[in-house]
Amino acid sequence: MTHPAAPKASHFINGAYVENTAGTAIPVIYAATGEEIATVHAATPEIVEEALASAQAAQKAWAKMTGTERGRILRRAADIMRERNHELSVLETYDTGKPLQETLVADATSGADALEYFGGLAASLTGEHILLGEDWVYTVREPLGLCVGIGAWNYPTQIACWKAAPALACGNAMVFKPSETTTLCALKVAEILHEAGLPAGVFNVVQGMGEVGGALVADPRVDKVSLTGSVPTGKKVYAAAAADMKHVTMELGGKSPLVIFDDADIENAVGGAINGNFYSSGQVCSNGTRVFVQKGIKEKFLARLAERTKGAVLGDPQDEAVNFGPMVSERQMEIVLGYIEKGKAEGARLICGGERVDRPGYFIAPTVFADVTDDMVIAREEIFGPVMSVLDFETEEEVIERANATEFGLSAGVFTRDFTRAHRVIGALEAGSCFINSYNDAPVEAPFGGVKASGVGRENSKEAIKHFSQVKSVYVRMGDVEAAF
Ligand code: NAD
Repeated sequence: MTHPAAPKASHFINGAYVENTAGTAIPVIYAATGEEIATVHAATPEIVEEALASAQAAQKAWAKMTGTERGRILRRAADIMRERNHELSVLETYDTGKPLQETLVADATSGADALEYFGGLAASLTGEHILLGEDWVYTVREPLGLCVGIGAWNYPTQIACWKAAPALACGNAMVFKPSETTTLCALKVAEILHEAGLPAGVFNVVQGMGEVGGALVADPRVDKVSLTGSVPTGKKVYAAAAADMKHVTMELGGKSPLVIFDDADIENAVGGAINGNFYSSGQVCSNGTRVFVQKGIKEKFLARLAERTKGAVLGDPQDEAVNFGPMVSERQMEIVLGYIEKGKAEGARLICGGERVDRPGYFIAPTVFADVTDDMVIAREEIFGPVMSVLDFETEEEVIERANATEFGLSAGVFTRDFTRAHRVIGALEAGSCFINSYNDAPVEAPFGGVKASGVGRENSKEAIKHFSQVKSVYVRMGDVEAAF
């Protein structure tokens, strides 16, 4: 019997579901049970061609519509997503294994926010008029053309919407490739956009592994690539895009510092560390996984953290009482368990967790290591699972230097009651998305993205418009042309 989460077909191209079973079969596995609930097929070269050709054919007419018209469609799609939030959240939970308690408030709702926000901005994308005496210059904000979006597996609905909404608001068309680990949700986003009135071909979804992503990135018709993924993939995709001088947005990984001074409100700091390490079972790019705690409050902090971590309720993620789900896949679970073993072998002190949970699915108990030092692998590499490393520090200067000693620069957080210090420290930390006395908030109104190896460009906010459009400037001479001869 077909599982209720199974999609109608693997791809969504030119306004309709499309199947081609010649492509490699990709199993859809429910991470909470390990059960295969559906199968999709990777795009064949013919499917990739169909998607790119229909996006290219649809883009010009879409760009010719007024911003108000484009925006209305995006806002209608946002309304549909909100009306269907429950159904979409159940699907997101099947796709990722994240608890329904989370998906009900963080996924389709966040996607709808992006569609509503950029739908609202679409009509206000104007240029400038620059007077130069009698002559003048005007500027036009134009779409880039054909954009490719490539997603990671932790937020399949949100990632599709964070890329589609600004791209479409600016008058671009998009071909989106979800992660092969979470293939379901982006198809629903496409379906809803079309139900809201999006012309066929403007937003297409094709499935596949890195190979399909690579084919999309290499196509000369593509003007822009927006990737959410790991740093190694980002380096490959950035290099491939550079061959044709394509625009890029790179939303990549991190190993972000969360700095807790000894004057911080302990309960809030512990809450921030929990949100910044255990939400979505730690599968969040901006997580503050290097928690630097000033020595004076270290043991008190660890005691409260261990106590509050007991509040994690593991179980069937479709049960709303559950607040902690499995890893997205067996492979990701193995990677994270490997890091936990490294942490133990390197001599970090295990405060809680540290093992796989004995039940079906890919559950790992929320894990905290203390006495972690800067040179340990668990303090240097992105783990992308529920593993928090607590490091000690004594002075502000010392912690800034150590926090910045990483190739990554996605996020950073500071907990302190001293506001002067909070702003001074955040000012000195090398990161794109920062928090003071909070962690991991990502409202659509705020720019999101990293510095250093964590990325290029920004998603969300008005900043995203700059990354999905370009400026044409036109000099207009009102008098005669002077020439040397
Ligand atoms: P990944 O890098 O393995 O894959 C990301 C996507 O890229 C997938 O769709 C994959 O199929 C595709 N891909 C792989 N090789 C490719 C190639 N050569 N050309 C084109 N596409 C290719 O990442 P993942 O394991 O899916 O996700 C986890 C990573 O994503 C973590 O590092 C995490 O920090 C990062 N992430 C970043 C953000 C952010 O906004 N900064 C958000 C979520 C996840």
